[in-house]
Amino acid sequence: MLRVTTERLYYQDSYLTDFEGQVVDLAGDGRRVYLDRTAFYPASGGQPYDVGELSGVPVVEVVDEEDGRVAHVMALPLAQGPVKAKIDWARRYEHMQQHTGQHLLSAVLIELYGFETLSFHMGEDLSTIELGTKEIGEGQLAAAEARANEVARSGRVVSIGFADAEKVEGLRKQSQRTGTLRIVEIAGLDKSACGGTHVRSLAETLPIQIRKIEKVRGNVRLEFVCGGRASLRARQDFKLLQEMARQTATAIDKLPEHVGALKERLTDAEKERERLAQDLAQREGREAYAAVAVSADGLRRVLWGVEKITEIVRGKALAFAAAGEKALVMVMGKQPAGVLIACSQDAGIDAVAVLKQTLAEVGGRGGGAATLAQGSVPNEAAALVLARKLGLS
Ligand SMILES: [Zn+2]
Repeated sequence: MLRVTTERLYYQDSYLTDFEGQVVDLAGDGRRVYLDRTAFYPASGGQPYDVGELSGVPVVEVVDEEDGRVAHVMALPLAQGPVKAKIDWARRYEHMQQHTGQHLLSAVLIELYGFETLSFHMGEDLSTIELGTKEIGEGQLAAAEARANEVARSGRVVSIGFADAEKVEGLRKQSQRTGTLRIVEIAGLDKSACGGTHVRSLAETLPIQIRKIEKVRGNVRLEFVCGGRASLRARQDFKLLQEMARQTATAIDKLPEHVGALKERLTDAEKERERLAQDLAQREGREAYAAVAVSADGLRRVLWGVEKITEIVRGKALAFAAAGEKALVMVMGKQPAGVLIACSQDAGIDAVAVLKQTLAEVGGRGGGAATLAQGSVPNEAAALVLARKLGLS
């Protein structure tokens, strides 16, 4: 079958939503449809594909194929013959706003700072431009946003034309293509070779909002939103701020100051809690020493099991060992599996020597001194070997 290149109606008219065409080829059991002409935009050049319907059947994806044809991927199979097509306009118009806003922002960033756009991506919620610069300052971002909005308010026309790749001059970015180029021009500001869909007037991109910037591949990636999406985003931001203000019982304008103060209070409270927990651990260590019966060899020995050997647990063990004569405590931690030995100097035990000797047998790592040693062990059984050596099980 002769493969006819699809006529792309969106090249001439981005506002066309309803059209009629002929199914000229089918693939994938009728789910991949080729028309003689289409207004559906296929994913290309950073802009996502359109969705919509062909004779009432949902179009779920649109693909730009290498041979110049546009494939409509259908939810259900279609047959040969004429079709009535309808594009999901809300989605398409959103893309047109973001895409035209990108041309404008790219042009403004060149105009103001000479920052070139290396690539463009349009996402579900945000679009991004990768700029050929290592840095962009807060002031530069604000100025670029203000300038883009100012130019957009002038309502300049966005026009579409065609030119020979060999002859065209003044393009913002040199095109790799040959033959006839589709030229998208913002009067007096920008001229680009582009196959995407754009709005007629820059005013339709308003408002333009630059959001965060990120460093990627040594360049700056800038996030932005335009038109309806920007208004929606601003509304969402406001709702978030309102909710934060409500939860912290303050006014929106006072949030940064208020949250800063709350953070400071939290840090202080955490320090105080840590101090109190250590105090309590010390007391518990001493009380535990007093409560343990003296063994036949004169030692007061105890084995504690804990979830994790924390600083608090260490403090308690050290307090036990320092509480009086002939003290020995071993702690077993579950997650991660670990052991700790603390003893008084007169206990007659070299904590680190016993630990290392045991680890050499059962595996694990550790170190310390004669009265305090700590290590990791492979499992609970390994910890119990150490406990037996210390007369604890
Ligand atoms: Zn474009």
